[in-house]
Parts: sequence; C-alpha cells; structure tokens
Amino acid sequence: MKAKITVLPGDGIGVEVTTQAIAILQAVASKYGHEFSFEEALIGGIAIDKTGTALPPETITTAEASDAILLGAVGGYKWDNPSAPVRPEQGLLAIRKHFGLFANLRPVKAYPALASYAPLRAELLEGVDMLFVRELTGGIYFGARQEQGDNDYAYDTEYYSVPEVERVAHIAFRAAQGRRKKVASVDKANVLASMRLWRKTVTRVHDDYPDVALEHVLVDSCAMHLLTRPASFDVLVASNMFGDILSDEASVLAGSLGMLPSASLGSSRMGLYEPVHGSAPDIAGQGKANPTGAILSAAMMLRYSLDLEAEAKAVETAVEKALANGARTGDTAPRGTKALSTTEYAAEIMNNL
Ligand code: NAD
Repeated sequence: MKAKITVLPGDGIGVEVTTQAIAILQAVASKYGHEFSFEEALIGGIAIDKTGTALPPETITTAEASDAILLGAVGGYKWDNPSAPVRPEQGLLAIRKHFGLFANLRPVKAYPALASYAPLRAELLEGVDMLFVRELTGGIYFGARQEQGDNDYAYDTEYYSVPEVERVAHIAFRAAQGRRKKVASVDKANVLASMRLWRKTVTRVHDDYPDVALEHVLVDSCAMHLLTRPASFDVLVASNMFGDILSDEASVLAGSLGMLPSASLGSSRMGLYEPVHGSAPDIAGQGKANPTGAILSAAMMLRYSLDLEAEAKAVETAVEKALANGARTGDTAPRGTKALSTTEYAAEIMNNL
C-alpha cells in the first residue's frame, strides 16, 4: 500500500526518536512491499522560533494531505514559561483539536526483561499488557468553570453527552476485538450523574460487540486493581480525568517512560502517534534517548491508521526480541552494563524485524 506520513519531530529528543521510528517504518515498507512517503513539518518550540506560532498553518496543510501524523515531543528549557502567550504545548492541543482526535490510546506492557525497573514484584507483572482508551476532548477539563475571582468558591463541571461516550466506547470495543476481547469501563456511577450516563451508554454500545466481555469498575477500585491484578486488564475505557490519572499510574509498570507509545484517534482513519515522554532536554542531542516509545507509536500507526496488523505485530515482536537479547538504552540498562546509543539500539530492533 501507499501512505503519506507527516512527521513532526518537534523539540529535544523528539528529533532523535522520530528519526528511528521513520527508519523502522522504512524497513517495514521494504520488507512488506509498501510505499511510505514522509514529509516533515514544524510544531512546538522550533515552530515558535521560526514562525512565531506553535502550529503554523503550513503544518496543518501538510498533515491534512497525509494518512497519519508521527510526532516526537514539544517543549524545552528555552520555552518553559507557563505565562508566555505562545507556548510549545499549544501546538499539540491545536493539532488534536483540528483533527477532532477525541480518543487517546496508551498501551502499557510489562516486558520481563525490564521487570526490575517497575515498582511491583515480577510475578505481578507477568502478562501485563493493557490498553487505556481515554476520552480526550470532553469531561471536567473542558466543562463550565468558575474561577475564584472575588468569591470564596470555584468550580469545574464534569459534563458528558451520549454521543461523546458512544464514540469513545466504540473505539475501545473495536480495539478489544483485536486483543483479548475484554473491556473494563471505569466510572464513578455510585456518586456522579455524568458517570451513570457513562455506564448506561457503554452498556448499550456493548450490545454491538457480543464477542467482547465488559466489566464496570469504579475508579477507586480500579486504582487498586491496577496494582493488585494488573495482568487481568485488557482494554480500559475511561473519562478524560480518570483516564489521565490511571494511565499515568499504570505507566510505571512498563519500567521506563521511554518505553511508552500513544495514539490519538478520531472518527476517521487519520491519527496522531507520539511517544508518551516529553522532549527530555536533560539528555537531548546526546544519543541517549530510548526510541522505543516512538517506534511502538509507529507500530500503532500501522495498526490503526494504515490497517496493517501483521506489520504492527512484527514491529512489536522485534522490540520484544531486542529487549530479550539484552539491547538497552541508558534508562533501562542495569548499573555497570553497557548502554547502547539511540541509533545502536534501534538497529538491534531493526535486526529483529
Ligand atoms: P520528559 O518526559 O521530557 O522527561 C522526564 C525524564 O525522563 C527526564 O529525566 C528524561 O531524561 C527522561 N526521559 C524521557 N523520555 C526519555 C526517553 N525516551 N529515553 C530516556 N529517558 C527519557 O518530561 P519533563 O522533563 O517533565 O519535560 C521536559 C519538556 O518536555 C518540558 O518542556 C515539557 O513541557 C515537555 N513535555 C512534552 C510532552 C509532549 O510533547 N507530549 C510531554 C511531556 C512533557
């Protein structure tokens, strides 16, 4: 197949890790007979420096003409001023909004080779392979609010409509069909009206997916179960705030921030794929970055935007094999052992493709 991919390296290690993700995608293309073309565009701090805005219109034009977007990271010391009118992260928010990306997918897998880096006992990590589907554009982060001002109160509103819950639930059930066919829907239906609507809606959408098992989990229980029985989860679907908190809790099970990929999806095939980590200015430009999160994000792109499941699995398996063979970047290398550079490590993955 032919596919056009927009690459937004962004800032710091974003540049280093996207370079390796592109190399893997090129290797996949030549192995499986596809034709992927890549076009780079600006976002984040570098876009501010060159154009005065974090998401120049040319970037949108390039992305609109492509099948998927691969992003590195945005931000860095130079632009770290929360009160500046133009900030790198505005680029990220704006591009998600422009493409209507309402679901954020974050897989968390515990690799046996990295078990000693996770805060749980190795036997609890065995088989941990879950996928968070977080609603990204609604809920309390976007609901009506009242700042304190002269008052002695302030409030935020958790608001969800049926269509908002339906569309993210469909994404979760469809993702589960390609996995272990289980969905855990996270809510607080015992207390919140918005979460009773969430539960009722997810239950109704489930009627369309009789091959997938559904369980409802209260958010507080879920926080505990993620540590006591993490391997029992397959797909978890949650509201914006609950998904934000729980996916960060679960992420530590992977052993390093550098291991984690993500996808942001909407109602078309177009998606935005990026590692979970930031621009890591403390190690940028030194060849120390772990490119796994970016490479696994490229695998998610193959799966969700390009419909190339076998190719996505091949990349994921290559990562597993490289790790099992002892390939490590600095963040995951045991003390006293040699860490590979970003390029050397990616080459190990490539060798296993
Ligand atoms: P960070 O994720 O950049 O780094 C946190 C720590 O993890 C650092 O010590 C870093 O060296 C390490 N780390 C991160 N990714 C790594 C990798 N792939 N390999 C090895 N080590 C890795 O978070 P931060 O330090 O809080 O933020 C730095 C900048 O990134 C800030 O400007 C922040 O606003 C931005 N940021 C951007 C995004 C994004 O683009 N999506 C996300 C988070 C933070």
